[in-house]
Amino acid sequence: MNVELAYPRFKSKHGKQSIQYPQNVRVLSDYLIIPKIGEIKAVIHRPIEGKIKTVTISKNCCDRYFASILFEDGKEKPLSSTEGKAVGVDVGLTHFCTTSSGLKYDNPRFLTKHEKNLKRKQQQLSRKEKGSNNRNKARKKVARVHRKITNCREDFLHKLSRRIVDENQVIVTENLNVKGMMKNHCLAKAIGQVGWGIFMTMLKYKAEENGKTYVEVDRFFPSSKTCHVCLNQVGSLPLELRRWTCKSCNTTHDRDINAAISLRDEGLRIISYGTRDQAYRQTVRRSSRGRKKSTTTLVSG
Ligand SMILES: [Zn+2]
Repeated sequence: MNVELAYPRFKSKHGKQSIQYPQNVRVLSDYLIIPKIGEIKAVIHRPIEGKIKTVTISKNCCDRYFASILFEDGKEKPLSSTEGKAVGVDVGLTHFCTTSSGLKYDNPRFLTKHEKNLKRKQQQLSRKEKGSNNRNKARKKVARVHRKITNCREDFLHKLSRRIVDENQVIVTENLNVKGMMKNHCLAKAIGQVGWGIFMTMLKYKAEENGKTYVEVDRFFPSSKTCHVCLNQVGSLPLELRRWTCKSCNTTHDRDINAAISLRDEGLRIISYGTRDQAYRQTVRRSSRGRKKSTTTLVSG
């Protein structure tokens, strides 16, 4: 037998690497038994309940090893119910997100905070000779700062999505074109940083795991421009306008809270009509009947 085959072989020597074991891995209280390698000490974060499907061993850029264990617990996903409190979640740049209950969560500006540190470490890296030991050390320092930022951001997103899912039964967000937005260079940094895409994925799977309902409203739905009280729609609403008054019903709105409420109501409408297709047809009917398009254009100042 070829000795080399006894060890995980990676396609590339640098950066993140991983190998999958589709079977025969055993997980014990503080170690793993991997075929042809044997016992490896490990910290097991959660008890394994059920049959192990695959185990993926990975190494990140900072030379730390992780094992992701996929197992079948035999439990069916709880059926989603819509009975209970509904919340609309609007994401934005002034705040990370605003909910229809009027709560505003601030943007985590970890990147800005760690940016100076990152820049300095990157400069140090660029001055090191290629292929040298010192360059390798500098590279790991850069990777560590990146990892710190990622960890802080994920922690924030996990806690916030958990809280929103725990407190509500129906969660409505906007289907964002995050990739399309990343092409817009001036916004790219801010958007990449806040991780809306990851946030929505977390809201979705946490909701589904807990028998709750997650709905995404089409991103062309004018949530900001629609008055949630009388459904009047304004022609335009400049981004710098944080508060506005509906000309039709005279309600003064906080831009973000109004958008979150409009999202929630639209999500509930989609649910009550069953499928999206029907919901869209209903939009057309409703707009020809009740929704008035205002000709006034709101301006700031
Ligand atoms: Zn109104």
